Amino acid sequence: MKTYQHWINGAHIAPASGEWLDTVDPYSGEVWARIPRGNKEDADRAVAAARDAMQKGPWASMTATERGRILRRIGDLLSDPEHARRLAEIESRDNGKILAEMQGQLKYLPEHWYYFAGLADKIEGAVLPVDKPDMLAMTYREPVGVVVALTAWNSPLMFFTIKCAPALAAGCSVVLKPSEFASASSLELAALVKEAGLPDGVINVVTGLGQELGTPLVEHPDVAKVTFTGSDTTGAKVYETAARTMKRVSMELGGKSPNIVFEDADLDSACVGAVAGIFGAAGQMCTAGSRLLVQNSIREAFTERLLEMARHLRLGNPMAADTDIGPIATRPQYEKVLHYIDLAKAEGARCVLGGNPARGDGLGVGQFVEPTIFVDVFSRMRIAQEEVFGPVLSIIGFDSEEEAVSIGNDVIYGLAAGVWTRDVGRAIRMSKALKAGMVWVNTYRAYSFLVPIGGMKQSGLGRESGIEAVDDYLETKSVMISTATSVPANPFVQR
Ligand code: NAD
Repeated sequence: MKTYQHWINGAHIAPASGEWLDTVDPYSGEVWARIPRGNKEDADRAVAAARDAMQKGPWASMTATERGRILRRIGDLLSDPEHARRLAEIESRDNGKILAEMQGQLKYLPEHWYYFAGLADKIEGAVLPVDKPDMLAMTYREPVGVVVALTAWNSPLMFFTIKCAPALAAGCSVVLKPSEFASASSLELAALVKEAGLPDGVINVVTGLGQELGTPLVEHPDVAKVTFTGSDTTGAKVYETAARTMKRVSMELGGKSPNIVFEDADLDSACVGAVAGIFGAAGQMCTAGSRLLVQNSIREAFTERLLEMARHLRLGNPMAADTDIGPIATRPQYEKVLHYIDLAKAEGARCVLGGNPARGDGLGVGQFVEPTIFVDVFSRMRIAQEEVFGPVLSIIGFDSEEEAVSIGNDVIYGLAAGVWTRDVGRAIRMSKALKAGMVWVNTYRAYSFLVPIGGMKQSGLGRESGIEAVDDYLETKSVMISTATSVPANPFVQR
């Protein structure tokens, strides 16, 4: 069994508490590793390392071009098939995400690092056409300072990348605390990036529980910015804590995204999009298309088609090449998903597929939930309003485009939406009317390092990926310089 240490200031450091937390393989149920149980002392140590790296270390005096070069080398390291294979396997083991998906993700992660490597020396201030004579006005774009990154268990390596790459491009340093349920891959990646020549203290990874370690990190006076990916309930607490010291905050929270199928859509593609949108990663995606809105004229036929496809999904060992759906990553999440299935039934929704825990040969300790589809769902039901974060789909009928928009927007969230139609005008109208940070048309779950993603409404604040992501790690400083050769006539009245 592997025993991990914190990664602070470029070295493996034992937790101040002398305590570790078990980390469990959700498929086998085995404790396969231990991670440090961090506390305030560890938080202080990691923040001090990050602060020193920004103020005193080589990071502080490096040019943006040199920073970009290091980011590029991190991309190269992740492109190494041996590193990619190892990291993919570790994360699959830790959170049960299927290995095939992790391998795909690892192939793409280097692109994020390359993109922000290129961006590092294109962050520019401006010279402003100031309205005053004998004056030069400029803006500098400066790194905001030490960043604390708090991440969820469903995609730790992706979160590490989409937070750290723009933060480093901006010149910040980072203390990252991954979820206590899946910390191993972040610790491994942090140690690996040292090989790219990243100075010590620029990325630190500490592990432990939210209350014991997350809170002291968010409270820390030397931290300038908190970037959080997780549930909306925790996000709100973190936001409140961060507000006390006026920290800059980005929040990537939950969703209840509508995937909307019109009668004129290419129904084969829409069916694939609907299945991938909710059963990919066993539904444990913030952007899951958990509400399938289908035009009533095709609702029954489309539901039949969907059932046919969903019935053939294979549950099993996430490491096996033919597995479509792995286990639910954590025990509390498994129980939460089953609770929502019971709730939907109690609310009067009709279960037409699954609806039970899945057990049997090849299903490990059984932390599996059958792909589940509910029909006869109405928008005001809790199953149509609250995030389940599991393989549970609610089908809701609609008649008109207007009604589709109204139901689509009838939730507190606004993270993503899908629209399936062959009508270009409708596609554009829908993309404007839906309150979501990402609208996919005739596709679902498409991501790119250069396309911003983030939430409207209670799905969050700020954007990740794309040029805007860097803005979240920068502060604008204005500088006004007098070029006057004479002393002002009246020192109290400046024009
Ligand atoms: P969570 O909110 O329980 O935990 C997220 C992180 O916050 C963890 O590292 C946790 O230890 C830490 N934390 C918990 N309490 C804290 C506190 N009081 N102070 C500081 N840190 C604290 O979320 P989770 O269960 O790990 O992840 C699932 C959630 O994440 C879902 O709601 C999902 O929608 C969301 N998510 C959002 C996105 C996105 O980009 N919008 C992506 C993936 C997941």
